[in-house]
Amino acid sequence: MKIYNSLTRQLEDFQPINPPHVGVYTCGPTVYNYVSIGNWRTYFLGDLLVRTLKYLGYDVNYIMNITDVGHLTGDNLGDADTGEDKLQKAANREKKTAWDIAQFYIDDFLKGYKELNLTQPKEFCRATDYIAEQIELVKIIEAKGMTYRIDDGIYFDVGKYETEGNTYGELSNIDQVREGARVEPNPQKKDPRDFALWKFSYPKGRSFDQAQDDVASRRHMEWDSPWGVGFPGWHIECSAMSRKHLGDQFDIHIGGEDLRSTHHPNEVAQSECATGKKPFVKYWMHGAFLQVDGGRMGKSLGNAYILTDLEKKGFKPEHLRYFYLTGHYRQPLNFTWESLENARITYERLIKKILEFKYKSIRKEVESEYNIQFKNNLENDLNTPELLATIWKLISDNSVDNEKKYNLLLNWDEVLGLKFLERTKKKKIKFKYKGKMSKITIVSEKKLPSDVINTLDEREVAREQKDWSKADQIRNTLATQDLEIKDEEGKVIVK
Ligand code: AMP
Ligand code: ZN
Repeated sequence: MKIYNSLTRQLEDFQPINPPHVGVYTCGPTVYNYVSIGNWRTYFLGDLLVRTLKYLGYDVNYIMNITDVGHLTGDNLGDADTGEDKLQKAANREKKTAWDIAQFYIDDFLKGYKELNLTQPKEFCRATDYIAEQIELVKIIEAKGMTYRIDDGIYFDVGKYETEGNTYGELSNIDQVREGARVEPNPQKKDPRDFALWKFSYPKGRSFDQAQDDVASRRHMEWDSPWGVGFPGWHIECSAMSRKHLGDQFDIHIGGEDLRSTHHPNEVAQSECATGKKPFVKYWMHGAFLQVDGGRMGKSLGNAYILTDLEKKGFKPEHLRYFYLTGHYRQPLNFTWESLENARITYERLIKKILEFKYKSIRKEVESEYNIQFKNNLENDLNTPELLATIWKLISDNSVDNEKKYNLLLNWDEVLGLKFLERTKKKKIKFKYKGKMSKITIVSEKKLPSDVINTLDEREVAREQKDWSKADQIRNTLATQDLEIKDEEGKVIVK
C-alpha cells in the first residue's frame, strides 16, 4: 500500500513497524461546540484508513483523543498558548461548568460518530482522564533540561532542543506559521516556537487559596502539579495518550492539515525528547480542508454546518459519506448544497441498482478483475474518486452477472461504510395493536387474530394484578400456537 507521508513529503510504501499490527492515532475534537462537517471530513479520513487497513488484513489498534481541556482560543490566531480555554469560555457563555460543556458536546459527538458509521476506536481518550500521564511526561522532559518557567506556565525550549542536535518542525514550514500569526507571541517566551507544557491557573502570583474566593476568575478544570495548580498545555495530551495506548513509536498519525504547522511538530518534539526515540510516528497523514461555496468554513461565517443542518434538509449521513468519497483526501473538497444533492441522487441510484442485483447468497470471497482494481485504488493512497469510478464501471458491465456484482459491492462496503446491506434489506412489517382492558401495546411481525390479541390483553391484566401463574399459563398456551412473546416496558413483542 502506498501512503503519502507528510513527514518525507512523498508517496511511500507502507511498512508497519510490527506487522500485522498497526497503531493509528487521530487528533479528535475539542468539545466546546458542535462538530462541523469540516471536522467530520477529517474523522472520515481516519475511518477510511482504518477500514482499508482491516480490509487488507492488518490488525489495527485505533485511538482517538477528545480534547476537553487546555485548547486555547489563541490557537486560531497563531499562538496556541494565548487566550482563553475554549471550554471555560463556552462554560462562561452558557452559564454551565466546563465539565458540563464537555459532557454535552462529547455526547453529541458520539451520536454523530455513530450516525456517520465511523469505525469505533479501541478507546476515545479524554484529556482530563490522563492528567497523571501528562504530568509524568512533562516531568521527563523537565529532567532532560528542555523546559523553562515563565509567569504563566512551563514551556518547551525549542532552541535548546535544537542546540543539542535535534531537529524541530520537520513536518511544517515554520516560517509560514510565524508570518501567519495574528498575535504577538508572549514576550517572555525565549523563542516564538516555544510552547506550553503546563499552564498555571493563577499566573499573576496569586495563590490557589486567594483565587478560590474570586469565583469569576476560578477555572472549573485545574489540577495540582509539581509546578503549581493549573492544566496541561494543548499538545501534551496527544503525546501522553498515544504513548500510553500505542507505545513510544507507532505507525500512522492523522489530523487536519492545520495541525501540521504547530500542533503536530510540537507532539513530535515532546515525544522524541521524552522517549529518546525517533521517529515518534512513522507516517503522518493530513487531510485537506472542507470548503464551503469555494471559501473558508467558519462559525462566524454561519457556514460551519453540522449534521442536524443536513438532517433538517432531508439528507442522510450516507449521503455525506458518499460526498466525502468523491474527493481525494489531500485535495480541498468544496461543499455546496447542490454538490450534496448530487451525492444524494447518485447514492440513491446506487442503492436502487443493488436492489436489482440482490441475491440471497452473500459470499466473502469473489474472484474478479474488479476486485483487483478496487484494491489498487485503495492501495494508491486511498484514491476514493477512482474507487467510485470502479463501482460504476462494474455496475454498467453487462459481462458480469448480477450475483457477482451484488457480492462484490457488499464486500467493498466493508471499506465504504455506505450501509449497502442495511439499505437493501427487506424491511419487516410490524403490526401494532392496543389492548382494550389494559394499556398494553402489542407489536408483531405477523398479523394476529383477534382472539390472540384479547388473550394477550388478558395476560397483561393478570400481570398488573400480579397473578403470575395465570400470566404464565397464557404464555404457555400461546407457545403451543407457535407464538413466542417477549415483554418490554409497556409493550409485548410477538414473534
Ligand atoms: P478542533 O475541534 O478545532 O480541534 O478540530 C478537530 C479536527 O478537525 C482537527 O483535526 C482539524 O484539523 C479538523 N478540521 C477543522 N476544520 C476543518 C475543515 N474545514 N475541514 C477538515 N477538517 C477540519
Ligand atoms: Zn493531537
